[in-house]
Amino acid sequence: MQHFSIAAIPGDGIGPEVMAEGLKTLKKIEELHGGIHFSIDTFDWNCDYYLKHGKMMPENGLDILRDYDVILLGAIGAPTVPDHISVWELILPIRRAFQQYINLRPIKLLRGLNSPLRYKAHDDLNFVVVRENTEGEYSNMGGRLHENTPFELAVQNNVFTRYGSERVIKYAYSLAEKRPKRRLTAATKSNGINHSMPFWDEIVREVGMHHPNIKTDIYHIDALAAYFITRPEELDVVVGSNLFGDILTDLGAAIVGGLGLAPSGNINPEKNYPSMFEPIHGSAPDIAGKGIANPIAQIWSISLMMEHLGFSDIGDLIVSSIEEVLLEKNVSTPDLGGKNTTIEFGEAIHQQMTKMSMNSI
Ligand code: ATP
Repeated sequence: MQHFSIAAIPGDGIGPEVMAEGLKTLKKIEELHGGIHFSIDTFDWNCDYYLKHGKMMPENGLDILRDYDVILLGAIGAPTVPDHISVWELILPIRRAFQQYINLRPIKLLRGLNSPLRYKAHDDLNFVVVRENTEGEYSNMGGRLHENTPFELAVQNNVFTRYGSERVIKYAYSLAEKRPKRRLTAATKSNGINHSMPFWDEIVREVGMHHPNIKTDIYHIDALAAYFITRPEELDVVVGSNLFGDILTDLGAAIVGGLGLAPSGNINPEKNYPSMFEPIHGSAPDIAGKGIANPIAQIWSISLMMEHLGFSDIGDLIVSSIEEVLLEKNVSTPDLGGKNTTIEFGEAIHQQMTKMSMNSI
């Protein structure tokens, strides 16, 4: 029996609703596999916690999380707490303290779904974005001066270290080596941002020399955003800085069915610390409490988690089960045009996992 410890942070808004389905996915894995056991601790660290305690997590929150194998997150953010607090005091400290320097986001059109790009076939939309997750434009360096005066100013520094850039670019290349198209596309803006971006490009070229089999393209972010729409079939592994990766992946989610479907992994490849898996979407206050959030992004994030833990067969089973439910078109949430609840959609996926498991596990 293999044991894995999981810290679950359901968070705010629709976070707890989709997390409830994610926890059922874990139960289903235990039931179907037989050789896996998850011990799960749930933490109520969210915006309500902040309103009560003046912080998003306890002082020793990171120490508490450190010994878990993985962290599973729902969604963080509420209208009552500014985003820069909820994000900077919970999600970003976790990503940084645990050196989760890879943010991995598959952009794949699942079978059973249509893309808003109506001239693109299914196989045209299947790539992965590797986003730098610990520095870049989301550095905490800078400040405000002369506040509340006409000459008030704000400075935010972009931080690109050789170490930080190299490790994410190396990871992206090693991923490209395992994928069929053997292509790597790097996002840049070296025509406008004339220090950090030429440095980034240089490192892409240097690392690329060690991967002569991989075709490398370095595109300006504006052109690359357009290619997501016009030439997605040419993309395989896309690597970008923290900000560029963030923006590109929301666009990526939009071309494969929307935010309710898009998962992500915040990965520490060396496994020195826990990695964290979460949906890309936020807490969606507009639909929170209605029980209609799409649980796919959360459930798919567990597929990424299983791959990370060394069970890619289970990861594949989860994705195939989601696809089968989408193909059958009997059950889906309103964001996909259906009338079902989060719980009903989750249940359909879990039943499908049982049906398909005969062949896969
Ligand atoms: P953030 O700034 O944290 O990304 P946001 O409010 O900008 O948050 P989301 O919370 O991700 O963005 O939601 C954007 C919209 O997408 C929501 O208003 C909601 O309608 C839709 N949405 C997001 N997640 C889901 C989901 N799981 N199921 C259905 N709709 C969703």
